[in-house]
Amino acid sequence: MQALLVHKGDKEHGTEYRTELSDVAETDLPEGSVTIAVEYSTLNYKDSLAITGASPVVRKSPMVPGIDFAGTVETSDDERYSAGDKVVLNGWGLGETHWGGLAQKARVRADWLVALPEAFTTQQAMAIGTAGYTAMLCVLALERGAVTPASGEVLVTGAAGGVGSVAVAILSKLGYTVVASTGRAEETDYLTALGASSVIDRAELSEPGRPLAKERWAGAVDAVGSHTLANVCAATKYRGTVAACGLAQGMDLPTTVMPFILRGVTLAGVDSVYCPLELRQEAWSRLASDLNAEALASMTTLIPLAAAITTAPEQLAGRVRGRVVVDVNAGQ
Ligand code: NDP
Repeated sequence: MQALLVHKGDKEHGTEYRTELSDVAETDLPEGSVTIAVEYSTLNYKDSLAITGASPVVRKSPMVPGIDFAGTVETSDDERYSAGDKVVLNGWGLGETHWGGLAQKARVRADWLVALPEAFTTQQAMAIGTAGYTAMLCVLALERGAVTPASGEVLVTGAAGGVGSVAVAILSKLGYTVVASTGRAEETDYLTALGASSVIDRAELSEPGRPLAKERWAGAVDAVGSHTLANVCAATKYRGTVAACGLAQGMDLPTTVMPFILRGVTLAGVDSVYCPLELRQEAWSRLASDLNAEALASMTTLIPLAAAITTAPEQLAGRVRGRVVVDVNAGQ
């Protein structure tokens, strides 16, 4: 089988961090009860960090990167799955501590799998990928915070990225008035076509701001962190909810307690990696009903396995639009 392999390098032996397309013996796959013929994986922000070594995502070396995949079960020692079943996997340490999806085969624990919803092909499931499933988790967090379309404008930051694009598409389909924040003015038409009512320059949010600002947002999906998240909280309306899932600007959060204690704002943390199975199933089933297939296609680029290596630095530089699907069987 072919796989991307990340070698973390070893200063003592003068070897450097590197990622390469490699031939790997199937007998080297890690332990697990289900072996899957992977069809598609994706390039999420975290995968790009792992492939380039820009952040310490990879915990073991060598590591097959790829935090998600969709494919067909080849063999299973677990009664919940049989050969031929279509499955999807997001997170659970894949590509970090357990060999991941940027490979033609994967072996994993059955507990980590979700049956592929009938509404999706394996390629569509990976067009959604972890970024899209996280966007849905963020939308569910807003709903649990009682943010409704009638509550007012909802902000999405990092809007032209993967999480952002899917969040814009879902929220607009659900009837929300979506404001998209982006650093790429040239993506205004793209974001409007996904359903954004208006587009703002992310520079309006990215600098240090006041503890409280004029109330504007009924809710927000934030993929960016840092001053942006602080400014979003400061401008969130009374009892609004902000779903925080990302750190594209930075992992810091230079805020004060003021939005929380004076306006009852909720900061809802969203984690996709160890999210419980019931919530994953809810998110995937809601994606089947609340994400428009045409919008999904418009935000997706398909690349072969080896191209993930060259696309990763582009993604970290913020030059990739929407979602990148990796056809692990193409271009061998
Ligand atoms: P992408 O690279 O596709 O999108 C990130 C977007 O953030 C960019 O497209 C850009 O949007 C914006 N951005 C980039 N750099 C900056 C900056 N310096 N300041 C402000 N905005 C910036 O990544 P994903 O959508 O895959 O992931 C987004 C974030 O969510 C990442 O931090 C990722 O780690 C996190 N994440 C977390 C998950 C979880 O479980 N909590 C799961 C999945 C993702 P634009 O050009 O529109 O400004």
